[in-house]
Amino acid sequence: MEEEDYVFKVVVIGDSAVGKTQLLGRFTKDEFFVDSKSTIGIEFQTRTVEIGGKRVKAQIWDTAGQERYRAVTSAYYRGALGAMLVYDVTSRRTFDHAARWLRDLRAHADNSIVVMLIGNKADLAHARAVAADEAAAFAEDQGLFFSEASALSGDNVDAAFLALLHHIHAIVS
Ligand code: GDP
Repeated sequence: MEEEDYVFKVVVIGDSAVGKTQLLGRFTKDEFFVDSKSTIGIEFQTRTVEIGGKRVKAQIWDTAGQERYRAVTSAYYRGALGAMLVYDVTSRRTFDHAARWLRDLRAHADNSIVVMLIGNKADLAHARAVAADEAAAFAEDQGLFFSEASALSGDNVDAAFLALLHHIHAIVS
């Protein structure tokens, strides 16, 4: 197998049950696992993509449930070049907690980390509790990229991860 030119560590953070594991699974394997908790214990998954003629291996870390105990440690953030900060568009609480996750990230991660706010479960339009405009405004204010997505339908999942990887690439190359 060919060697990659870059390895980008990306962490996925956000409240429990917002769909972090599903998003990661969708991007790395294009699958939606109904029994997502079977992945506990897996630290990261990878997918190699080509960006600007270079082979970039995305190494995407899952909290594997640590966030339940607010035990996401500095080791989790160490060396991360990107972060997906996920909330659930049907849960106002998970969006309100995004500010807290951002503080955590700012305290532990490198200053230059590229962060994308993701409003997941966009397929559940009837149950929406957070307007896209409001999240976009928060993201702009905080210097984050923003996208809604659905790990269930697959909508915007690849696009969001690839955008994050392109932004990281623009910084490191
Ligand atoms: P995590 O705790 O943040 O890793 O969340 P999971 O990935 O385990 O997902 C939590 C629950 O939300 C599971 O029941 C998933 O099937 C469901 N889920 C995840 N993503 C989506 C989505 O995009 N749409 C819908 N409708 N359900 C989702």
